Amino acid sequence: MPGRLQNKVAIVTGAGSGIGLESSILFAQEGANVVLVDINLEAAQNAVTLIATRSPNVKVLATKADVSKEADVKAAVDLAINEFGRLDVMASFNNAGIMHPADDNALNTEEHIWDLTMQINLKGVWWGCKYAIIAMRETPTDEAKGLHRGGSIINTASFVALMGAATPQLAYTASKGGVLAMTRELAMVHAREGIRINSLCPGPLKTPLLMDFLDTEEKRQRRLVHLPMGRFGEAVELANAALFLASDESSYVTGTDFKVDGGLSSAYVTAV
Ligand code: NAD
Repeated sequence: MPGRLQNKVAIVTGAGSGIGLESSILFAQEGANVVLVDINLEAAQNAVTLIATRSPNVKVLATKADVSKEADVKAAVDLAINEFGRLDVMASFNNAGIMHPADDNALNTEEHIWDLTMQINLKGVWWGCKYAIIAMRETPTDEAKGLHRGGSIINTASFVALMGAATPQLAYTASKGGVLAMTRELAMVHAREGIRINSLCPGPLKTPLLMDFLDTEEKRQRRLVHLPMGRFGEAVELANAALFLASDESSYVTGTDFKVDGGLSSAYVTAV
């Protein structure tokens, strides 16, 4: 049976860890050639080694890029085109993000923390969209191989873009709200070119990003009481959603805030 991303080319940014890593594994397993992009080249290379053993029939590459730098993002897209002949009907997964320990409330957050967070979380997503759109417009179709016009872009936002928290991370939250708004608008602009652009809104996950931040049992419990399922999510649960958004199964889905949050954003009083 052909894979759900057979013959497609995917770029995954933030591919060295968490959601990006699990998505890269799944995308390759479903037949995509994948360019794994991360600021941490060693982590991306380790991921390539893992994937190459599990999915020997596809090609996976690692490249170092800082998504907040336009030239780096362009180079990563160029690499995909040069290596695979096309950056085509594909999933471009802009997934690198940071949560700075010094990101706090309106009074305590320093300007350089705000700027750094915006640079990576919001501007980095813009660069990813820009170069993916340019490439997708150029991509030839091959209907016999199931390669259609356009492509799929998935931008990782967060549940914090939809709900307020009394444990503030103002810059992070604002940057993720920006991702949602930008994604909606881009989806409208490019809908008739067959380029689908969606946000993925994860709930709190058991990945290094959050677990390094919630470094005491007290901090974890402060969140767990609000989670309807009583547990943090797993990165692979997000990767499964990303796979759906990347594949043709979601061919009528664009401009959505795709929530994978264990019901958190629907919660008032949770079960105990
Ligand atoms: P993670 O920390 O496990 O992985 C993030 C990866 O991004 C790392 O490999 C890191 O090296 C890379 N990275 C960081 N800055 C980069 C840059 N400037 N350029 C390129 N790569 C960079 O994180 P995760 O939990 O998988 O989170 C992935 C995305 O999901 C992020 O956008 C995050 O904001 C979002 N998110 C996470 C949670 C959660 O609870 N973990 C919740 C909501 C949203």
